[in-house]
Amino acid sequence: MNVNQQPHMASPYGQPQPGYQGYPQPGYGGDNVPSGYPAQYAPYNGPGSAYQQGPPQGMRGPPTSGAPPVSGAQNYSQFGQGETQNGPPPMVAPPQRPPVSQPYTPAAVNLPGPQPTYGQQYGAPPVSMQQMTNQMASMQVGSTAPSPAGPGYAPQSFPQAPPVSQPPFSTAQVQPGPTQSYGRPLPSTQPSFPRPPLPTSQPSAFPAGPPPTSTPSQLPGVIQPQPPVSQPPPYHSGPPPTSTGFPPRPPFHGMQGLPMTSQGPPMASQGPPMASQGPPMASQGPPMGSQGPPMAQANHILPTQPGMPPGPINTSLSGPPPQPGMQGYPAQQNGAFGQVRGPQPGYTGPYPGQQNYGAPSTAPAPAPAAPKRLDPDSIPSPIQVIEDDKANKGSEPFTTGVRGQAPPLVTTKFQVKDQGNASPRYIRCTSYNMPCNSDMAKQSQVPLAAVIKPLAPLPPDETPPYLVDHGESGPIRCNRCKAYMCPYMQFIEGGRRFQCGFCSCVTEVPPHYFQHLDHTGKRVDCYDRPELSMGSYEFMTTVDYCKNNKFPQPPAFIFLIDVSYNAVKNGMVGIVCQELKTLLDYLPRENPDVESNIRVGFVTYNKVLHFYNVKASLAQPQMMVVSDVADMFVPLLDGFLVNVSESRVVIESLLDQIPEMFADTRETETVFGPVIQAGLEALKAADCAGKLFVFHSSLPIAEAPGKLKNREDKKLVGTDKEKSLFQPQVSFYNTLAKECVAQGCCVDLFLFPNQYVDVATLGVVPTSTGGSIYKYTYFQAPSDQERFLNDLRRDVQKQMGFDAVMRVRTSTGIRVTDFFGSFFMSNTTDVELAGLDCDKTVTVEFKHDDKLSEETGALMQCAVLYTSCSGQRRLRIHNMAVNCCSQLADLYRNCETDTIINYFAKYAYRSILSSPTKNVRDSLMNQCAQILACYRKNCASPSSAGQLILPECMKLLPVYLNCVLKSDVLQPGADVSLDDRAYLRQLVSTMDVAESHVFFYPRLLPLQKLDVESMTLPMAVRDSEERLSRGGVYLLENGLNIFLWVGVSAQQELLQNIFGTPAFSQIDSNMTSLPALDNPFSKSLREIIESVRAQRSRYMKLMVVKQEDKLELIFKHFLVEDKNNNGGASYVDFLCHMHKEIRQLLS
Ligand SMILES: [Zn+2]
Repeated sequence: MNVNQQPHMASPYGQPQPGYQGYPQPGYGGDNVPSGYPAQYAPYNGPGSAYQQGPPQGMRGPPTSGAPPVSGAQNYSQFGQGETQNGPPPMVAPPQRPPVSQPYTPAAVNLPGPQPTYGQQYGAPPVSMQQMTNQMASMQVGSTAPSPAGPGYAPQSFPQAPPVSQPPFSTAQVQPGPTQSYGRPLPSTQPSFPRPPLPTSQPSAFPAGPPPTSTPSQLPGVIQPQPPVSQPPPYHSGPPPTSTGFPPRPPFHGMQGLPMTSQGPPMASQGPPMASQGPPMASQGPPMGSQGPPMAQANHILPTQPGMPPGPINTSLSGPPPQPGMQGYPAQQNGAFGQVRGPQPGYTGPYPGQQNYGAPSTAPAPAPAAPKRLDPDSIPSPIQVIEDDKANKGSEPFTTGVRGQAPPLVTTKFQVKDQGNASPRYIRCTSYNMPCNSDMAKQSQVPLAAVIKPLAPLPPDETPPYLVDHGESGPIRCNRCKAYMCPYMQFIEGGRRFQCGFCSCVTEVPPHYFQHLDHTGKRVDCYDRPELSMGSYEFMTTVDYCKNNKFPQPPAFIFLIDVSYNAVKNGMVGIVCQELKTLLDYLPRENPDVESNIRVGFVTYNKVLHFYNVKASLAQPQMMVVSDVADMFVPLLDGFLVNVSESRVVIESLLDQIPEMFADTRETETVFGPVIQAGLEALKAADCAGKLFVFHSSLPIAEAPGKLKNREDKKLVGTDKEKSLFQPQVSFYNTLAKECVAQGCCVDLFLFPNQYVDVATLGVVPTSTGGSIYKYTYFQAPSDQERFLNDLRRDVQKQMGFDAVMRVRTSTGIRVTDFFGSFFMSNTTDVELAGLDCDKTVTVEFKHDDKLSEETGALMQCAVLYTSCSGQRRLRIHNMAVNCCSQLADLYRNCETDTIINYFAKYAYRSILSSPTKNVRDSLMNQCAQILACYRKNCASPSSAGQLILPECMKLLPVYLNCVLKSDVLQPGADVSLDDRAYLRQLVSTMDVAESHVFFYPRLLPLQKLDVESMTLPMAVRDSEERLSRGGVYLLENGLNIFLWVGVSAQQELLQNIFGTPAFSQIDSNMTSLPALDNPFSKSLREIIESVRAQRSRYMKLMVVKQEDKLELIFKHFLVEDKNNNGGASYVDFLCHMHKEIRQLLS
């Protein structure tokens, strides 16, 4: 076939598509996609033809009237820009708000005319609603008889005069000030469709030399460095010594030739990395006074033998003398920790076995009984590992061309170059070297999972996925497994056919896609096509990929605002209405130069619902009251969902009037189920996907579907019945969620509770539809509105896809068996997401169903079909290949502990739905003990049983695991509410690895070390009270909270610079923002706080904590290396306990 004949071949992605030039930098390139679909297009992953049950293929009809504006993917101006993960603080630019008419026009309010008596048809609005009622369309709102509910809620009339004091929150306060930023200014120049990276044949880019892992971690006293096992570990042919049921191990096969890995001489580089360990912590010396050994000690370094190289020496702080036997081992890459005081009686003391571990909060971890307490500086330090990784991997870009290469840690700032596998920003794996068979996997107990963030934002210096168009017949796929064209497809027979890397099936290359091969068998256009050379890209899809074979309508946003007493009184209603007037100008769009296609609608409610007609032609909004909430419907079709710019005047009038209307309400009861139903019905009527923003304040006890009762019962905590508290109390919401998903109706819930609201039940719909839950307990406008408004702005503006469905395909030998996140599944393979935003992750777990080969590795392809905010149907593809090994040591050498912890946390947090929390904790701990015991038995060099030997890549597993085990969800203190636990449980389920890392191990920065000149962050310190200096000031953040801790003896100059007063006693611990002082330190600190906030998906409110103040108790809860009041063990104690568990497994 002639190569040049490419009849209707789609333009190679290199050429800007008509609508796609200038693929927006900021975002992932636009993605809003309605997904929905359950039955309608279940087969999207199946044969393309399966899609259409109606018209024959190829009948790609013209877009319907509301068709997606193909205007294309200009950048999202939205906050995508600010999204850079490690970027600078968001710019504070005043919103570019188009001039709008004044919100309130008195004239318009005067509505003459007779006032219908609401009695029968309209669900009995209060008489005072005169003006409104005048204009109400005479449609039947509540077809039932006048509902008793009607009169009760007493909405006030639309004000005749300019709003006066009514709303607790005078509207003035929310005026967008200069500090409100709505997304950043657009970059003036958008690179237009950057060319793909050249076919660098340079895997050279990847850091030469061994991974940093090679640092032997030799712990004084406790831990001994083990040489990395590049040589096959001793093979024990006998039956596993433990009774835990380790399956027999397969024989080791000599050398494992890992073709591409950089693993080379794993142990080589011990020197350098360690070198950098001293300085960091050293800085803490002075203030710490009594801290004992200088923190400067790297965890691998013997405090007692400072001069000694970090060799394989076996030392012990206070334990047995070094064991000669240990000497001479090649430094193991896998850190070993020797001599944990082994079988010494003293050691059982500090951590009294299982019975206490994880005991109810009333049983505090016993104090170390042993006289020889383990030196915290001698055990693996998270800070050290983080700093080592920064030093070793932070300077070079991470290129993804090498299979099985573990990326830098999430705490390291690095650039990614896509050379054939998905960026770690999209996919992180628990191990980049999977065991070849299930026996090995079972033996090791290392979870095989991937944390996928399909629409992750990228920093400005990385290229967003290219958009590929394969023409009218849609993306090229494997005939059998339906995998999409990707770098793992092997072209054969001169390019006429390709063999699938996933299922090996051979498929014809369609004529329009044909291309010749070069002498290496690669297509000559390989590097001109993202789908042949890159890990991530997007496909344009055809109508076959659309629900009902119809291109989707642009999505809609519906705002549903609780106007009951509590919601009005705490200021929420006023704030929301005021903010929306501005925020509606920043709805997601793909091209900043055109208006968003997203239509909007408004509902208010207490125990009845009020719909608003905001059609542009009206002089004033009209309200329709539906008091028959038992069978929800939308009382108006025309005028409910509108275009913002067309209806601006009416919308603004409405938003001005809502707070006034309900200012004097005395209605305290609310409904909830009907509220979501109303939004869902509105989307159905408009035949589009969309998102509901529900602002809700209380337990929905009013008579209606989905009514709830207060079932909070703290006595159940810690019992076998505890799990019921995390399950929804009625099944109504599960059913409703399913309907929402089918329609592509994503629900975001903003809660403002003053008491128990049953988050476990109210959260069912949000967490099944890809939505988010925000919770502002005891919301008080003055101190909490900043957090709420920032969250709301981000949530409204963020890039997202609608009506999405995701599938992960894998190569033969493994398959996806489990999923974690906020979604719905109606079958075993398709993850349905009514909405998928840029912050959401889905964690998938793999299991073997056959043998894997070291040669081919294991492949996965994540495909997400979604509708963009403009209504385009797209497919985003992420490909990832990892190595496979026949030696356990290789598995342990390529693990990523942060990802393992992400998986474990999600697994455990889900397990409490079905098992007592204690069982969940125990089984998690047991699994980790088995992981480490397996390493010890099969990979580590022989050593005495008294040594704790940890794999280098997992040396932080114990400390992080302990943080998960003693988290509020798994081991709550008396002060943690059930709602908070349910909230955190749901929150963690969608976290990416960076978020879960900082959530479980907060970042603690010593500000007295801040170098104002360099503007680099001071190196963090470990989360322990021992690390706090009374003379210092520290910043602690965990992604949800940010604290400023002030030591009682903090230097006066420091206090003066930060607070404007030199006196500790003068500091007001109620402040939620720092004074803007005109000195370099104050400026730097405020910038740091802003940049830390910018990195997180939720706004963190600042709390100032003075040492020895009562608030300090809250702060100390985040010092996770210490034991806590819930009965959570200290790191030291837990490590000893873990060691004991391992020894038991090995004996
Ligand atoms: Zn296939």
